[in-house]
Amino acid sequence: MTRVGVLGGGLQGCCIALELASRGAHVVLVDENPDLLTRTAVANEGKVHLGYMYAADPSLRTARTMLSGALAFAPFLRRHLGGDLDLATSSPAAYVVHRDSQHGVEQVAAYLDAVHGLVADAARVPGATYLGGAVTAPLRRWTEAEIEACFDPAEAVGVFDSPEVAVDPLALASILRRRITEEPLVEVRTGHRVEAVKRTADERFEVTGFLVGQPGEEWDEPFDQVVNALWGGRLAVDETLGLRPGRPWLHRLKYGVSVRWPASAPAPPSATVVSGPFGEVVRYPDDTVYLTWYPACLRGYSGEVSPPTSWETHPTGDVRDDIVRGTVRGLAQLVPDLAALGDEHLADATVKGGVIVAWGETDIDDPLSELHHRFAIGVTSEDGYHSVDPGKLTMAPLFAQHCADRVVA
Ligand SMILES: Cc1cc2nc3c(=O)[nH]c(=O)nc-3n(C[C@H](O)[C@H](O)[C@H](O)COP(=O)(O)OP(=O)(O)OC[C@H]3O[C@@H](n4cnc5c(N)ncnc54)[C@H](O)[C@@H]3O)c2cc1C
Repeated sequence: MTRVGVLGGGLQGCCIALELASRGAHVVLVDENPDLLTRTAVANEGKVHLGYMYAADPSLRTARTMLSGALAFAPFLRRHLGGDLDLATSSPAAYVVHRDSQHGVEQVAAYLDAVHGLVADAARVPGATYLGGAVTAPLRRWTEAEIEACFDPAEAVGVFDSPEVAVDPLALASILRRRITEEPLVEVRTGHRVEAVKRTADERFEVTGFLVGQPGEEWDEPFDQVVNALWGGRLAVDETLGLRPGRPWLHRLKYGVSVRWPASAPAPPSATVVSGPFGEVVRYPDDTVYLTWYPACLRGYSGEVSPPTSWETHPTGDVRDDIVRGTVRGLAQLVPDLAALGDEHLADATVKGGVIVAWGETDIDDPLSELHHRFAIGVTSEDGYHSVDPGKLTMAPLFAQHCADRVVA
């Protein structure tokens, strides 16, 4: 039986582990944290992208990539987690064109239309399923009166319906964790930091590292094949095998704020503000609302091979307070309903964040930045070593299948 080391217990690593086990491989799933799925996999808003957000890539390659991932997402999870899996999804996102958008309203409208053509065609293929259900209805442009009812019309210069939804990543993580514990072909090694991968003389691999919290305790383990799904830690471990991407990349540290919506106030719509350094509102069915506002939530950049170890998943003190206030203030200019969030609601807000890994050298405010493209992602393989860049949470289930196709021929 092939013994595969899957490095990284985020969404990508967990999906790969389950897919490999379902094909009869023996998997050892390694992560440095005390539990699986505690980092970027749960520090995001869980939007399953259909491609509408990427107007800066008019080639539609990013949209096509996201769409293929989005349509594989629910079928993969149902196959591994049960056909009756009921993942609660957010209300669908309205796409809101900001007055300072890098693309004008008509340009965004044309892009959304083009993507929607792809979405509707793909969704008509028998078996294609999107989490939120039907996606074929035409995208509707909001009237001025509708815009005024939900947004400040001086800031929101155009609004379009979309069928795009988000899953609650924490709910998904807890189901996945349970499923992995029950899977006899997956052994979990938490608290194991990976430092290096080496090829051995018998054309196998040795993974080495140290035990977290146990100074001086090292570990090593042999594998027939290795999958690197370490996300923020991926490039550093690739490098230990001499693999470098040959192009610049950026690690960015980004946060979001989750808050319980007050029952007495009208709830805001789920909204994605385009195009540029803006933000999102995601409303989940349990009345939790996730807010992100780029100028307040983007807290660090690094072009180094590893992101700084000081980047925290849950910031505290002034940094936390600054993110909460800056996010609500920034978004409330556009979504006046957010003014209902007083200090008493924000005191309990959760701030969570993680690394975004993407190709490129300049930030999102540069319309030509490679950060606006997400098609050069996926699985890279070299003689039994597979390095997987999911690019987005959306892509993890599809890339798990691509990766397993290469591991178990
Ligand atoms: C704020 C934010 C919002 C986002 N929103 C969305 C969204 O709405 N939709 C979407 O599609 N994508 C979104 N993303 C991107 C998405 O979250 C990531 O692409 C995806 O979660 C990354 O894959 P992962 O889950 O496997 O990563 P992770 O959860 O980071 O998994 C990697 C694991 O490897 C571990 N690890 C790393 N290095 C080592 C090492 N050397 N040794 C041992 N363990 C190690 C890490 O601790 C971690 O547990 C967002 C990202 C952020 C930060």
